[in-house]
Amino acid sequence: MTVLDTAAGQITGGPPAIGEPCVLIKLGEVVLKGKNREVFERRLQNNLRSAVRDIAPVRIWRRHGVMVVRVERGGGADVATVDALARRITDVMGIVWVHRAWRVGKDPDSVVGAALELMAGRTGSFAVRSRRRDKRFPLTSTELDRLVGSKIVEAYGLPVKLKEPEHTLSIEVDRDEVFVFTDGLPGQGGLPVGMSGRALVLLSGGIDSPVAAYRMMRRGLRVDYLHFSGMPFTGPESIYKAYALVRELDRFQGGSRLFVVPFGKAQQQIKSSGADRLAVVAQRRLMLRTGEILARRLGGLALITGDSLGQVSSQTLANMTAVDDAVELPILRPLVGMDKVEIMDTARRIGTLTISELPDEDCCTLLAPRRAETRAKIEDLRQIDRRLDAEELAEKLADSVQEHRPVYGEGNAA
Ligand code: ATP
Ligand code: MG
Repeated sequence: MTVLDTAAGQITGGPPAIGEPCVLIKLGEVVLKGKNREVFERRLQNNLRSAVRDIAPVRIWRRHGVMVVRVERGGGADVATVDALARRITDVMGIVWVHRAWRVGKDPDSVVGAALELMAGRTGSFAVRSRRRDKRFPLTSTELDRLVGSKIVEAYGLPVKLKEPEHTLSIEVDRDEVFVFTDGLPGQGGLPVGMSGRALVLLSGGIDSPVAAYRMMRRGLRVDYLHFSGMPFTGPESIYKAYALVRELDRFQGGSRLFVVPFGKAQQQIKSSGADRLAVVAQRRLMLRTGEILARRLGGLALITGDSLGQVSSQTLANMTAVDDAVELPILRPLVGMDKVEIMDTARRIGTLTISELPDEDCCTLLAPRRAETRAKIEDLRQIDRRLDAEELAEKLADSVQEHRPVYGEGNAA
């Protein structure tokens, strides 16, 4: 490879002035246009700011298709802080890639300095990819690739490989500065939380409902959580699990609220209402009725469950239809078409699986009939509801909620 013979190509000795470490964010859903795009970016900016509040005060710049997060002057823009920012930002919905970048002046020297710093200590092949969003730069993209590439070869002896390199060094020339960065961390994708409104998740202690919550947050819903415990006929273990799950999921939105309803007595009433084989579906209807009342109080526009078609006998199409009949709000079931293996993979990735697998006394087992109905008839269920006075019962249950505020990261410091 030839070294470009430009004055700018010469690096002088001594430590290079490499500028300022910052985080460069590639946004998702780039198809969004016009007003939606504006809403997306404004929402994301706010969400980013609150997600990193505990790490450092930041300034966020919007550029074409990217955002730049910089530590406020005096906030200590050291590499460790910026690394922590980048890691935290990977949990914020609406982002495709998160890069720890160097922001440097618009001259080839500074770019080379930052590139050498970023590639230090690495082994394996690399490629340099430059883009000029602003064409006023002394070198073309190809010239810049060659210059920086040759300096890296010279300094570290790494082999250049343009196709599938082990490291990609990216250079983006902007209007006032240049960003230099290597491979980033993948983000969650999707839309910024809050962009699609608010909804209430029915959260059991199981594997599925936390994944359902995650998937709907990723589509821009801010979620509240509702858990039914078997109290006073079970211990509080399921509440601890729900709490731990919400605390883990809180990193995707912040400010999460968990509402807990003691459901044991209502279950007894269902049992003595003669619901028999319909008890499980009748109970699910009562849960959703209660959820609907609570959701309306909280400004929620939908209910979310972890149902997956056919996974258990209560999740047949007929039974889902029978549950839908009890409420007016839409019930979102993001896992309806997913296999258990896929659901578990997601649960593992988002850190909820190990919590869900902890033992507890699920309130539902209190009520399991010998043989559950798989084709519940809506008319029979309505009759059970009348006997129970389900509407009033649901109001009472909704009034009995206890609110908790699990915060991501709390309790970990001890
Ligand atoms: P999960 O893994 O979420 O517990 P599951 O496969 O065990 O789901 P079911 O027990 O039939 O399925 O529950 C279906 C859905 O009903 C759950 O995903 C959840 O949304 C809701 N649900 C069930 N039990 C409770 C509970 N105790 N509190 C709140 N919601 C519940
Ligand atoms: Mg369950």
